[in-house]
Amino acid sequence: MKLPFNVDLKNKVAVVTGGSGILCGAMAEALAACGAKVAILALGQEGCDAKAEQIKAAGGTAIGINTNVLDKESIKRAHEIILKEFGPCDILINGAGGNHPKGTTTNEYFLPEDLNNEELITFFDLDQEGVNFVFNLNFLGTLLPSQEFAKDMINKEGATIINISSMNAYTPLTKIPAYSGAKAAVTNFTQWLAVHMSKVGIRVNAMAPGFFITAQNEKLLFNEDGSPTPRSEKILNSTPMGRFGEAEELIGTLLYLVSNEASGFVNGVCIPIDGAFSAYSGV
Ligand code: NAD
Repeated sequence: MKLPFNVDLKNKVAVVTGGSGILCGAMAEALAACGAKVAILALGQEGCDAKAEQIKAAGGTAIGINTNVLDKESIKRAHEIILKEFGPCDILINGAGGNHPKGTTTNEYFLPEDLNNEELITFFDLDQEGVNFVFNLNFLGTLLPSQEFAKDMINKEGATIINISSMNAYTPLTKIPAYSGAKAAVTNFTQWLAVHMSKVGIRVNAMAPGFFITAQNEKLLFNEDGSPTPRSEKILNSTPMGRFGEAEELIGTLLYLVSNEASGFVNGVCIPIDGAFSAYSGV
């Protein structure tokens, strides 16, 4: 991976949840390219191993550990392996997250005739389990690994946590109330934890990616023939730069936030990386 600039992370241990995914996989590669020993924690050993192998093939140090960020025992087990293999954690990226169809409405607006239409998921049909799933994955899935790994970081120079929020946290997107609420909670929790940990030297910030094409959203954004869906066109019309982001475009902000030299007094912020989506009123 070509880095936008170098940050010295030699002897640092970085834990990246969701590190087998597209966005946080790129972050894991960048941290390793800066010299950090990187632990990839995600669902499925195969994906974790594949990312770790890719990093090792590029000359970095990495380990993949199948971990469920909603299971304290699973996180604890991963932590034990990391302590044994790499030592205590300096950098935690809370990237595991996502949406669920059962927390999503079919249409953007509710109309009177929708009430008894069984082909639609309206607001009234949203499934409690689906909403729970999304809140837990994004919010608890950020809180639980922070509880586990922040213990290593107390009074450790350069210790930092970076959470992954979203555009939904600023203004909810239509159709996805659970994901929007859960990411708003992630941004809010980032501020809370930054304050709570400010006396023990742990900086806590967040990144809010705009629209990036990944496995999770590809079907929402493109038709089978590769043409953009109406939702995709809406997104591009609302993104003044008129395009989707590339995972590599998150790396400059990531390296800035993990570097104590660059951002040592930056604490409790959430940085949008969104082609001006969040700045645009639509007019
Ligand atoms: P992705 O689907 O490529 O990867 C998701 C990762 O999360 C995978 O590694 C998966 O194994 C892991 N994961 C899911 N559930 C887990 C669990 N219970 N325990 C451990 N790991 C789990 O996703 P992505 O698009 O790269 O998204 C990464 C983060 O960025 C997510 O938090 C997502 O909400 C956020 N985000 C994405 C976009 C976008 O445009 N793709 C925009 C804003 C925010």
